[in-house]
Amino acid sequence: MNRLGQVFLRNRRILEYISKHVDGDILEIGGGDGRLTEFLVNRGKVWVVEIDRKFESRLREITENVIIGDFLEIQPFRVDSIVGNVPYYISSEILFRLLDWDFQRAVLMFQKEFAEKMLMKPRERKYGRLSVMAQYYFEIKFMREVSRYEFTPVPEVDSAIVMIRKIRHRDLGFEEFIRKLFSQKNKKLKNIIQVESKYSDMRPDWMGVDDLLELYRSISSYSGHH
Ligand code: SAH
Repeated sequence: MNRLGQVFLRNRRILEYISKHVDGDILEIGGGDGRLTEFLVNRGKVWVVEIDRKFESRLREITENVIIGDFLEIQPFRVDSIVGNVPYYISSEILFRLLDWDFQRAVLMFQKEFAEKMLMKPRERKYGRLSVMAQYYFEIKFMREVSRYEFTPVPEVDSAIVMIRKIRHRDLGFEEFIRKLFSQKNKKLKNIIQVESKYSDMRPDWMGVDDLLELYRSISSYSGHH
């Protein structure tokens, strides 16, 4: 795949479908040649961030609010909607960067496999740290798959559109705890951390967010006493 994830949706019905799910003040990530942006300007006030300067003049024909830069670096501001057919090489960075933004909903196209991992449940094969952190921070709705053949050039993988709402603020302590547990997710808990718990004989990847959170809280209050 090309370096900046530049694959363009060529099916106008899907561009319209995406745009119909956002409104108000809208931020688009990765505007490219503006093919989605053109639909978005009918839905509200649009800001578009694009890293590749060659698209700047085309994007400026569509909206005056063009930010040439890296989405991961720009200063967040308040919007209603965030939307984008996002570059796949930084899916996870983009997802968690959303925690720094104040928004109502995000409608994002990810690599299908990434979208599925976000939604995996305990004991499912691809359940892992990404699933836990995604489900801890966001309410995620799978909207639809999009075949690789809807893009030009045709990428090596299929895509999927998800809708996301933020439900929690960043908690670095919990993130660290999950990183530790899931670096040894095939072990039983009693072999990873020294603590008496009803979960001792469970493996991290058998536990959902609620169980993991309960365990984390019990440990935090426990170590707080020492
Ligand atoms: N919106 C168009 C293009 C999507 S391709 C469509 O739906 O068809 C993804 C776009 O993201 C490319 O134009 C690429 O240059 C841009 N991009 C890649 N990395 C970026 C980053 N870090 N910040 C902002 N834009 C980025």
